[in-house]
Amino acid sequence: MAKPIKLKDDQIQRWMSLLIARAKKIGALGEVPVSAVILDKFGRCIGHGSNCRNQKNLPLGHAELIAIQQAAYVQGDWRFNDCTLIVTLEPCPMCAGAIVQARMGQVIFGASDSKRGGLGGTINLVNHPSAHHRMKIISGVMALEVSYVLEDWFKQLRSRSCQKQTTLTQTNSTP
Ligand SMILES: [Zn+2]
Repeated sequence: MAKPIKLKDDQIQRWMSLLIARAKKIGALGEVPVSAVILDKFGRCIGHGSNCRNQKNLPLGHAELIAIQQAAYVQGDWRFNDCTLIVTLEPCPMCAGAIVQARMGQVIFGASDSKRGGLGGTINLVNHPSAHHRMKIISGVMALEVSYVLEDWFKQLRSRSCQKQTTLTQTNSTP
């Protein structure tokens, strides 16, 4: 069976830099800044996705799921044994479940998510007894940069909601 591509460190970093730049762009549109890409066994991009829950009102609108759907369409197969998924943040349990179901060959992610991570942060669905598929995981790629983008985004969100509350309070207290 074909194996996923073995990427060199600088290749992984190039992809991660590109994904971080893309995540920042969608962050500016009001989405949690997370982006993903899927590479085939030759290292060619066959799918990409970014969070789009708010824009599309889509509960399944996580970067990984969008990328998986696009890549399945492009390769005409739902099995990803020889493919690599690269994503800025550790996949959540929903996406980790889908990644196992899609039989992804390899997952590379940036920052770990100690609150919601599905690949070890809170639960590890790849090593879980329910998992029928094992894959190679590489983590911690440019984790500081990824964390900074996310923290900055949440900080801005909090300050915006604080401003809104202050405005509301002022409006309410006007006689
Ligand atoms: Zn997810």
